[in-house]
Amino acid sequence: MADRSCPKCTSALFLQRIEPGMKGYVNRVFECRQCGTEKTFPGRANPGIQTWPRDEVA
Ligand SMILES: [Zn+2]
Repeated sequence: MADRSCPKCTSALFLQRIEPGMKGYVNRVFECRQCGTEKTFPGRANPGIQTWPRDEVA
């Protein structure tokens, strides 16, 4: 299960900001409002478009 919950207190995480990652990817940074823990979820910048060679897939 890809549940976006805090690893420390299991409260719900809220999207704080989106940072640029590798080419075609971004890092979505979520923050826990209970204890302030941040957790980063990397993902494709454009999930619907697959233009990258297979050897570039993380
Ligand atoms: Zn927490």
